[in-house]
Amino acid sequence: MTYLAVPIAAKTLQEAEEQIQAAVIAGAELLELRTDYLVQLSVGLALQVIEAAKQLAPGLPIIVTCRDYQQGGTLRHTNDLRTNVLTAAVRAGADFIDVEYDNFMSVAIGSKISLALSTGKGTRLILSDHNFQTKFKNITKHYGEIANVVAGAIPKLVYSAHHINDCFDILDLMHDAKGEMIAFCMDEPGFVTRILTKKFNGLVSFASIGAKTATAPGQPTVEQMRDLYRWDSIDAQTEFYGVIGDPIAHSLSPAVHNACFAERSLNKVYVPLLIAGGQAEFNAFMDNILARPWLGFKGFSVTIPHKEYAINYVKEKGGVIDPLAERIGAANTIIINGSQLSAYNTDCVAAIDAIIAGLRIDKAGLRKMPVAVIGAGGGARAIVAGLADAEAKIKIYNRTVERAKHLASDFKCDYASLDSLHKLKEKLIVNCTSIGMHPNVDASPVDVNLLQKHMAVFDTVYTPPETLLLKHAKQTGCHIISGVDMFLKQASAQFKLFTGIAPNTETMRKALS
Ligand code: NAP
Repeated sequence: MTYLAVPIAAKTLQEAEEQIQAAVIAGAELLELRTDYLVQLSVGLALQVIEAAKQLAPGLPIIVTCRDYQQGGTLRHTNDLRTNVLTAAVRAGADFIDVEYDNFMSVAIGSKISLALSTGKGTRLILSDHNFQTKFKNITKHYGEIANVVAGAIPKLVYSAHHINDCFDILDLMHDAKGEMIAFCMDEPGFVTRILTKKFNGLVSFASIGAKTATAPGQPTVEQMRDLYRWDSIDAQTEFYGVIGDPIAHSLSPAVHNACFAERSLNKVYVPLLIAGGQAEFNAFMDNILARPWLGFKGFSVTIPHKEYAINYVKEKGGVIDPLAERIGAANTIIINGSQLSAYNTDCVAAIDAIIAGLRIDKAGLRKMPVAVIGAGGGARAIVAGLADAEAKIKIYNRTVERAKHLASDFKCDYASLDSLHKLKEKLIVNCTSIGMHPNVDASPVDVNLLQKHMAVFDTVYTPPETLLLKHAKQTGCHIISGVDMFLKQASAQFKLFTGIAPNTETMRKALS
């Protein structure tokens, strides 16, 4: 079993009691009592917190930790005090104590802990090593060293992932090592390891009661793990899907896909995958995934800035490119079927459908319509392809003019730099840049004074649903189309590619609210 563990990181006994009660309500499966947070730490106070956990959370296993400041502890407690707290925890019947491996190897600490454990009531020893800087040099060797120190000890290895590609060392360890362990990566790029550990039967994954009580970077809340990432449904057979992007924290794709997986009771979970960098980093991630079919990844949604990298990668690997994605030159969906890859683009049809539904016209109504497309990235490519197919009169405006020129020459349309926006006169304005997207919600790609009443404005940005551009357009009296409509349509087509099943779009819409 992999316990969903909640750290109790309280400064006082009263705060600890409140946090324990909240953890129980949130659905914690184990409590980690981080006694190093207690401001007036003493053996007596630590024992009171342990007793409070037993009373308020009867039956929940307890790890007692008194983290060394050098390993991420909050306060500089002496080694003597920390050792005395941990040995007292053993005597009090804690299920586990967590001792830093380096500390345990010092005779003064290790011998006292070993003696307490030998006379205890079955408390188990977790030997931990945290690296807040980088990966361990040879994690497999290090795991072996720790596992061999004391029979039955559980190694805990945790490091900061600067890039998602740093995570594969720990995933290999989870898969290859046969013994028990606690293993995951900290920070946003490492988030997926906190979920995958359940597939590989790691002993615990940590989650906080609320965002403010997180004890490590990248730690999710219990609610997110349970309700958003389907924690309770994960087992060794679970298949994984994910959205690749940078930034990615704002993405609502995990919410909509997981809601539809849950509704159909599919053993599938969808996760956010932060991939910083360009083509090289994207390729390295995909190579890592394909080299490890046991991870169970079966497909990806692809967003900023990776849509063009995605199609390049699938082509390079000899995969199947859907004709529409080929025409667009960008893919927002990758399917993995054994060693076979295929790439699709669900943005194009979704965008055109959203536009014609929004304007209450049919596709023929777009013929000769003057349209300004702002942006020339992967999303813009899909929309320009759809509008060109409908024979609209397109002008592309982009910050990087070369990119606008390239896109315009692919679809035989006009282009200009963003500086030319003051001449904006088109009937339909489509924002395909990320300007205005959460968290930069106070930005708009078009000055409010350039908008005119006769215009219709479609913003592909969907977080927030009503961007500053749409607010300004509404004030001006323009017809507006929200990016949410396109988002739901493209996600729906993606879900069908992932599962072969049409999703319940009402479930998707509800998941957004
Ligand atoms: P992308 O390939 O990275 O392209 C980003 C575009 O935004 C480029 O044209 C870029 O200009 C421009 N840009 C970014 N920051 C800018 C800034 N500060 N000033 C001026 N221009 C800036 O990303 P994408 O995949 O096309 O996505 C773009 C947006 O469309 C995102 O907000 C995404 O959420 C949205 N989108 C929504 C849906 C939906 O379903 N609703 C679907 C697809 C995309 P440069 O070329 O000069 O870098």
